[in-house]
Amino acid sequence: MTNVREVDCCVVGGGPAGVMAGLLFARAGCTTLVLEKHADFLRDFRGDTVHPSTLEVMKELGLLDAFLERPHQQLTTLAGVFSGERIEITDFSRIDAACKFIAFMPQWHFLDFVTGAAKRLPTFSIAMEAEVTDLIESGGRVTGVRAQTPDGPLEVTARLTIGADGRGSTVRDRAGFEVESIGAPIDVLWFRVPREARTQDEPLFNAGPGHILITIDRGDYYQCAFVIPKGGAEAVKARGLDAFRAEAAATAPQIAPRIDDLTDMDDVKLLTVAIDRLSRWARPGLLMIGDSAHAMSPVGGVGINLAIQDAVAAANLLAGPLADGTLTDADLAKVRKRRLWPVKATQFIQVMAQNRIVKPILTEKQKRPRPPLIFRIVSRSGWLKRRAARLVGLGVRPEHVRAPERHKVGA
Ligand SMILES: Cc1cc2nc3c(=O)[nH]c(=O)nc-3n(C[C@H](O)[C@H](O)[C@H](O)COP(=O)(O)OP(=O)(O)OC[C@H]3O[C@@H](n4cnc5c(N)ncnc54)[C@H](O)[C@@H]3O)c2cc1C
Repeated sequence: MTNVREVDCCVVGGGPAGVMAGLLFARAGCTTLVLEKHADFLRDFRGDTVHPSTLEVMKELGLLDAFLERPHQQLTTLAGVFSGERIEITDFSRIDAACKFIAFMPQWHFLDFVTGAAKRLPTFSIAMEAEVTDLIESGGRVTGVRAQTPDGPLEVTARLTIGADGRGSTVRDRAGFEVESIGAPIDVLWFRVPREARTQDEPLFNAGPGHILITIDRGDYYQCAFVIPKGGAEAVKARGLDAFRAEAAATAPQIAPRIDDLTDMDDVKLLTVAIDRLSRWARPGLLMIGDSAHAMSPVGGVGINLAIQDAVAAANLLAGPLADGTLTDADLAKVRKRRLWPVKATQFIQVMAQNRIVKPILTEKQKRPRPPLIFRIVSRSGWLKRRAARLVGLGVRPEHVRAPERHKVGA
């Protein structure tokens, strides 16, 4: 038997964009259902960077203090090491934001916290293990979705459906949206290495001959991202575990003491990098946000934050009219209009960084990669370091929560 639900807003995907949209639409008084295909949020190696822009949103929602009680590390400068030479390119200490740091927090804490706050709203619900398989359409309008759940098929009817199901989006596929692929010359191999006592000023970005390794401080371990040329994973695996460990430890000596704890190449997970965007984000009854509207590269670690900014913009523009029953199809197009410039600008910077900084190190096998000129220039000027921090931390055109608060959010 098919179960049936009717809501104002159905959000497909319980990632950063989906849970934040769910919270904001429910807070504005719309009955909101989030559908997430996984049983929990405990997936590793998702982006873990919570930037000042997202922390600002938390503050505006009155959730910041409770949020920061979750375990996290704070990063106040972004530094890189190129063949042993350390260079600092951002200084968050003087940006105009409540939190002058990037918080590194496992993404499941972020998703769990936001859904925990949302669940206290009478208008919010979330269904886990609910995989959306199709759209329901009537007269050219999207009127809801079909999903598979452990209790059988589910049909959700909604006045607004939001696709937030990530880079492999089923919703964008079923809706027939055209995807403009911008391409990415890199992939990433994720793994973790136990971390011994903290050393001072550890860099995040490490470049050695032919290799780049990002080392994220996660307290008692490093989450490591080994950046490889696109499609290069098989070659890395073919070289074997010993070679991989040696290359990683030589690139980032801080992980060397415990690199032998990595005992199996199966613990090294490939994540394919894509950059793309849709030419349209909306159809009558349907809006796409987050990675499903524009997949982001990991460069700058800004994807989560852009996804959240989309959710805030969508709620600012649509939640009030949806709750009041005055939402029009023309309103949906306003979200892309507002968010396209920040997305395009960020993707442009990511493509430049990938092609001008990352790719040459990976492919030209420089014996001693040196810091790029732009990094040297920025690192010598406090003013430029603060501008860079603003760009990375707050992004282009930061969004502020303006959607109506018809139900009070509490942590
Ligand atoms: C290798 C790599 C590293 C990255 N590192 C970072 C980083 O450090 N910091 C950062 O900010 N960004 C990073 N990013 C980018 C970041 O992961 C994304 O930009 C961000 O997660 C997008 O959020 P989202 O909510 O739009 O989509 P997602 O996070 O992809 O969430 C989509 C959700 O939808 C669910 N879903 C999918 N299909 C269905 C369906 N049919 N039915 C129901 N649910 C469905 C998924 O299970 C998932 O929970 C990285 C990306 C890559 C590839």
